[in-house]
Amino acid sequence: MKKLEERILRDGNVLGENILKVDSFLTHQVDFSLMKEIGQVFAEKFCNAGITKVVTIEASGIAPAIYVADSLNVPMIFAKKSKNITMTEGILTAEVYSFTKQVTSTVSIAEKFLDASDKVLIIDDFLANGQAAKGLVEIIQQAGAQVEAIGIVIEKSFQDGRNLLEEAGQKVVSLARIEKFVDGKVVFGKADA
Ligand code: 5GP
Repeated sequence: MKKLEERILRDGNVLGENILKVDSFLTHQVDFSLMKEIGQVFAEKFCNAGITKVVTIEASGIAPAIYVADSLNVPMIFAKKSKNITMTEGILTAEVYSFTKQVTSTVSIAEKFLDASDKVLIIDDFLANGQAAKGLVEIIQQAGAQVEAIGIVIEKSFQDGRNLLEEAGQKVVSLARIEKFVDGKVVFGKADA
């Protein structure tokens, strides 16, 4: 997605070896018009796939996921990272190691929001080592639902996430694929949309 790549080049900051900071439009402050276009691009790809739910993980996946869900006209569910006393009914859980926070947490979705008739599109802001997406796949499969694909806004192709997910039989669709960082600059590979 050309507009996304241009925005990353303009406003993204490379931190250290392998982190991209995009807090001015995606992970902290949110550019809703860019999110809307991201939602439309994913919706065009998946409008004939029979998607019934969009699933993401809090917090930074929520902004793009909500626009994808809006464009596909289906509900959006975000997995919660900490147990909440209001989650009194059955919950589905998975252990997820966070790349940016370097801690493992139990993420959960209430059982009642997913069932065997669901066809799910997973959406997340970043793909690094694939742990967040893998946890979401586990939760969706516990519900007996089907994962149609994993839609990623920014993939860092030099990390292992795509391999891990594809080896597990999942389809990954990324709007921007970062091949490498050279002297603090982003170098893109060919994106999926
Ligand atoms: P993974 O589970 O694929 O290793 O990492 C994905 C998660 O870590 C994403 O949900 C995202 O929140 C966070 N993440 C991974 N890499 C980056 C990055 O370079 N920048 C930012 N802002 N978040 C990242």
